[in-house]
Amino acid sequence: MELRLREAGKAARAARRREDQLNEELVRARTERARKERSLEEAREEVRSLAKRVEKAELDKAKAESIRSCSGGGGAGPSTSSNEGFFQDVLSNFKELVETNLQCSVCSELFVFATTVVGCGHSFCEECLEEWRAMKEEGRPNCPICRANFRSTVPCLALDDYVEKAVEGFFPEDAKEAR
Ligand SMILES: [Zn+2]
Ligand SMILES: [Zn+2]
Repeated sequence: MELRLREAGKAARAARRREDQLNEELVRARTERARKERSLEEAREEVRSLAKRVEKAELDKAKAESIRSCSGGGGAGPSTSSNEGFFQDVLSNFKELVETNLQCSVCSELFVFATTVVGCGHSFCEECLEEWRAMKEEGRPNCPICRANFRSTVPCLALDDYVEKAVEGFFPEDAKEAR
C-alpha cells in the first residue's frame, strides 16, 4: 500500500516536471516564431532587392552580348555557342536538382522553415510537420516519410539558406510572390 502511494507520488512529480518542461518549450517556440516572423519580413525585403539586381545583371549581360556580336565575333572564337549550350545544360540540370531535392514531401513545395526530425533526419516545412504532428496527437508522432517515432525536431538552417539562395538565383519570380 505504502509502496503504491510512493509510486503514485513519483508519477505525479514526473508528470509535473513534464508539464513544466512543455510550458518552457511552448514559451521558447513562441519567441522563436516571433523572431522568425521578423526575419521573414527582412528576408522578403532582401529578396526584392536581389531580384532587382538579377534583372539589372541580366540587362548588363544582354548588352555585353550585343556589343560582342557587333564587334565581329572575335575574342572567344567559334566555341562560344557550344560553351553556352553546355552552360545552359548544366544550369537546367542544377535547377531541376534544386527543385526536387529542396522539396518538402508533404506539400511538394520548396521548404519553408525547414525542420528536421531528430532520429531519422528527414526534413519538412515547419508547418507541414506541425500539422502532421497535430493529426497524430494521440501517441508518439512519427516521420511522414519513414514512420520512425520521434520526440523532437530541430530547425535546419542550412536547408533554409540553401532554399533562399536557390530561389534568389533561379526563381526570382517565385521569390517575389511566395516568400
Ligand atoms: Zn511542406
Ligand atoms: Zn524519417
